[in-house]
Amino acid sequence: MSTKKFLLQENEIPTAWYNIAADMKNKPLPILNPGTKEPIREEELYPLFAKSLAHQELNQIDAWIEIPEAVRDLYKIWRPTPLVRAYGLEKALDTPAHIYFKNESVSPVGSHKLNSAIAQAYYCKEEGVTNITTETGAGQWGAALSYAAKAFGLELAVYMVKISYHQKPYRRSIMQTFGAQVIASPSMSTNSGRKILTEHPNYQGSLGTAISEAVELAIQTPNCKYTLGSVLNHVMLHQTVIGLEAEKQMEMAGEYPDVVIGCFGGGSNFSGISFPFLRHKLNEDREIRIVAAEPASCPKLTRGEYQYDFGDEAGYTPLLPMYTLGHTFAPAHIHAGGLRYHGAGSIVSQLRKDGFVEAVDIEQLDTFEAATLFAQAEGIIPAPESSHAIAAAIREANQAKEEGRQKTILFNLSGHGLIDMTAYDQYFAGELTNYSLSDEDLAKNLNQLEKII
Ligand SMILES: *Cc1c(COP(=O)(O)O)cnc(C)c1O
Repeated sequence: MSTKKFLLQENEIPTAWYNIAADMKNKPLPILNPGTKEPIREEELYPLFAKSLAHQELNQIDAWIEIPEAVRDLYKIWRPTPLVRAYGLEKALDTPAHIYFKNESVSPVGSHKLNSAIAQAYYCKEEGVTNITTETGAGQWGAALSYAAKAFGLELAVYMVKISYHQKPYRRSIMQTFGAQVIASPSMSTNSGRKILTEHPNYQGSLGTAISEAVELAIQTPNCKYTLGSVLNHVMLHQTVIGLEAEKQMEMAGEYPDVVIGCFGGGSNFSGISFPFLRHKLNEDREIRIVAAEPASCPKLTRGEYQYDFGDEAGYTPLLPMYTLGHTFAPAHIHAGGLRYHGAGSIVSQLRKDGFVEAVDIEQLDTFEAATLFAQAEGIIPAPESSHAIAAAIREANQAKEEGRQKTILFNLSGHGLIDMTAYDQYFAGELTNYSLSDEDLAKNLNQLEKII
């Protein structure tokens, strides 16, 4: 037997999410209205987001926020997720380190994103919302939200970047199976889509355009709200269910992690696994390292700047305080589509600035090498995004071996890669490359930022 699982009972699913902002001495800087540069008030978020979510977004007071019963009931379909001791990987690496991973790939849609999708759909339903919109790139968030919308009887319109709509048909099929309407963006269904299509009929779309369309539809449709799958504080909050379970499970294993690792796109799975552990450091000064693993081709935490920036490419959102590469930054087309985002959520950014969070960058080829080793040792094919966390965990384990000392490593397996096999095929065919990013390339977009901080 090469693995050992630490399993919790259904009734041990956490009853509250952990809001780390309440415990931070230096609170994250406020979100700003881009017109007035004044902090956004909760009411200003209501046209776009459900009120409860707007409230959670700005809540810096309550450390614990109760998980509604209906949300916990749906969590029971796949939660608690297993915590696994990766004996197979330890053996393959011949390391004295103990390696644990939290397996979020067992969710019905194959990733952690369902933790927040269900919560967001619930609050929308509770407030009488009937329709929700969102955008999706590779399709992970769209897939999760499609299932969540169906569970609460909401109509969902997903704007999917046109090139992914055609190149990644399976996630589109998953969304359609759950009953969502999936629209290739740009589309003729919105003003912003029509405008782009009349000017550039062959435009293959971008996340920025898809956001514009989803936001426009939400604002113009009665009883309709917009939702987002990462970056925002309320999304990080919902994901803490991962780390809260892991905390109990590490206790069952009789260990406490020296280092906690998550891959990093906008920060939701990373925050989810790490914030509950970080609270021991914030409140009890406990020794623990927290490491974010990001792609070398999209290095906001390792090489970005801490500054106010827009959340989207088009510049429609409020200004967020974040480590950013600039909202006009166009990352290389790596297969970890979920990590191709220009900025980090504002809570993680503050924690990084205050030295509570470390970051490492990983090259694409290293992630696939790590993924293949992990798959062969543990029997799970990881998502290209999650493979960044695996590669970082392997580095830590190798370092422990060099230093000849035990170390306890915990990482989050944010999703499986069974719908990403084309990426693996390309890796085996030798068709994938690393992407280097010069300081000049980085400066180009950063120089365009208005320096508010
Ligand atoms: C979306 C996604 C990510 C990246 O998003 P975060 O908000 O940074 O967690 C990572 N892993 C998987 C499997 C994803 O679907």
